[in-house]
Amino acid sequence: MALLRGKTAIITGSNSGIGLGVAEELARAGADVVLNSFTDRPEDHALAEALGARHAVSARYIAADMSKGEDCRALIEKAGGCDILVNNAGIQFVAAVDEFPVDKWNQILAINLSSAFHTTAAALPGMKAKGWGRVVNIASAHGLTASPFKSAYVAAKHGVVGLSKTVALEVAGKGITCNAVCPGYVLTPLVEAQIPDTMKQYNMDRETVIREVMLQRQPSRQFATVEQIGGTVVYLCSPHADQVTGTTISVDGGWTAL
Ligand code: NAD
Repeated sequence: MALLRGKTAIITGSNSGIGLGVAEELARAGADVVLNSFTDRPEDHALAEALGARHAVSARYIAADMSKGEDCRALIEKAGGCDILVNNAGIQFVAAVDEFPVDKWNQILAINLSSAFHTTAAALPGMKAKGWGRVVNIASAHGLTASPFKSAYVAAKHGVVGLSKTVALEVAGKGITCNAVCPGYVLTPLVEAQIPDTMKQYNMDRETVIREVMLQRQPSRQFATVEQIGGTVVYLCSPHADQVTGTTISVDGGWTAL
C-alpha cells in the first residue's frame, strides 16, 4: 500500500512500544519515517535501518531528549521536513499526590505534554507552506478519565487532548488536521514498568494487578496492541480522515464507554 508514499513522518519516542508500532504501520503505508528517543546507541540506528529495509522506505533515527524544548525543535529541524508528526514520547510514575516527587511531576509534564507543544510549533510552518499536514498526539484513556496515583500523567494527558483541539482550530481549513489517539492499556515496556509499583500500591500480585486493576477498566478484558494504535494513526493520515480534526479516538476496549 503506497497511501503515504512521499510523506515524511516523525514519531517521537519510537525506539520501543507504541511509537515503534506506529512507525512500523506508517512505513507499511509507504511513509518515510524518523524514529527518535533520547539515547544514541548503534542499536537505535540499526532499528531504523531494519524497519526501512522491511518496507522499502527511508528510515532514520535522530536522538533528541523530549524533556528539553530546544531538543524537540531541533528534531524537527534535523529531519529536514515533517508531513506527519506523531507526538508519542511518554513516561509514567505512580505515587499519591501528596507524596509525588516534584522532579517526576516536572519530567512527566515536560515529556508527555510540553514536548508536543514544541514539536508542533516547529512543524506547523512547513505544513502550512505545503497545505498538508497531520499532527497525531498519542494521549491516553487517562486524557479523558482519571485513576488514583497518576496525577502528573492524567494532568499531562488531559493537557494533550486540550492542545490537540486548540491546534486543530488554529489550522482548520489549511489541509492540516490535529487529533489525539487515546489508547487503553497496551502491554509495552511502559506498562510493564508500572506493574511493580501498582502491586505495592494495591498489595496485589502481578496477575491480580493485570486482571483487577489494569484490565478491570477495559471491558473487553484484552490489551490493545501497538498494531491497532498504528493502524488508527494511518487512518488519521488518510484522505478518509480529512475532516476528522480536533477530536479524540479511543482504542480502549470500551473503557471510556463505562
Ligand atoms: P514505552 O516506554 O515502550 O515507550 C516510550 C517511548 O518514549 C520510548 O521509545 C522511550 O525511549 C521514549 N522516551 C522516554 N523518555 C524520552 C525522552 N526524554 N525523550 C525522547 N524519548 C523518550 O511506552 P509506550 O507504552 O509505548 O508509551 C508510548 C506512549 O503511549 C506514551 O505517551 C504513553 O503515555 C502512551 N500510552 C501508553 C499506553 C499503554 O498502555 N502502553 C496507554 C495509553 C497511552
